[in-house]
Amino acid sequence: MPPPTSFSIGAARRVKKPVLAFDLGGSWFRFGLVAPNAHDVILLDKSHAHTVRNSEGSIRDAQARLIEYIVEGTRSADLCTDVSLAAVSIGAAVNMNSGHIVGSAPLWGAAACDIDLVGILSQLVPHLSWSVVNDVTALAMRLLMTAVPTSFDYAAALTISSGIAYRTIDLRSGHIPVDPDHGLQGEIGHLPADNFWRDHRLQARCDCGALNHVSSFASGRAIESLLDSMPEMAELTAPPVVSMPAEPSSQHTRIQDLTHAIRKGDPTALEFINFVTRPLARVLIYQTTLNPQVGLTVVSGGVPEGLGQPYLETLIGHLEDLGLYGVPTNDSTYFRRRITHGNPDGLDTLRGAAVFARGSSTRI
Ligand SMILES: [Zn+2]
Repeated sequence: MPPPTSFSIGAARRVKKPVLAFDLGGSWFRFGLVAPNAHDVILLDKSHAHTVRNSEGSIRDAQARLIEYIVEGTRSADLCTDVSLAAVSIGAAVNMNSGHIVGSAPLWGAAACDIDLVGILSQLVPHLSWSVVNDVTALAMRLLMTAVPTSFDYAAALTISSGIAYRTIDLRSGHIPVDPDHGLQGEIGHLPADNFWRDHRLQARCDCGALNHVSSFASGRAIESLLDSMPEMAELTAPPVVSMPAEPSSQHTRIQDLTHAIRKGDPTALEFINFVTRPLARVLIYQTTLNPQVGLTVVSGGVPEGLGQPYLETLIGHLEDLGLYGVPTNDSTYFRRRITHGNPDGLDTLRGAAVFARGSSTRI
């Protein structure tokens, strides 16, 4: 097993190079060029993801199509010669000790794997220096370049999209603490969760195959499935959404119906987001108790970006209801100071993957 690439926060901040960055999630595949200033992104493509759910063939076919998307994207980007760094953010569990992908419920279901994507891409596209990070690790890396208050030593990224994950990062060094044996941290989507709808315990299957995980109720895929299956939600409808230019035609989603209903103040819709955020709030209250050094948690992903401020308000409301032992009740903004929205343009995974690439490259 090759040693993992070491990360230098100094290099990540000092190096001003454009990076070709890919974001491969369970719903969308995207890539773009991240400018040397680490903020501006030229989005070059956004396509529906290739996953085992929408592939005709096997998991192996879905994995091959993902690699093909990266290779074809690199060719079509027609890069100028000053681009030497390429970064991949992927919605998969990545062993940060080895850099290998070990599984992805949103992309490949319950299958475990051991994929050296850096090695594969380095062989297929050898003129670029490749790096691969989990998507929430990319979001945590992005925090190194944003204005987090200097009084905080640690921050965390939380993503809720087709999957759910959480990552703490040491803002002084860029270090992300991981399990020494398996290189993982914060796969909270697969923690057990009980959830009750109007006093009835619901059973729901997670993408990983298990029953009643946090992702079974709180992920974007779970929310879509629950909206389809719960009779109380059948009435929610929204006007058709017009796609932005240069984006693929938007499929109508039930989350758009939910968003519309929430904006109208529909009480059943508000009850529903209260229901789907509850398992997540329970995890966060334990995390806040056990790791008080995390001064700020930044919430990103398609679900909070789609549902907007009411989603965050509901999540914070749960935390305030649960309370934190020892925090005085007159500290009424405790959770509001510590939980915030990420960048609403949805491109921070590309930016964060580029930060990791700059800080990890051996060619600079
Ligand atoms: Zn699971």
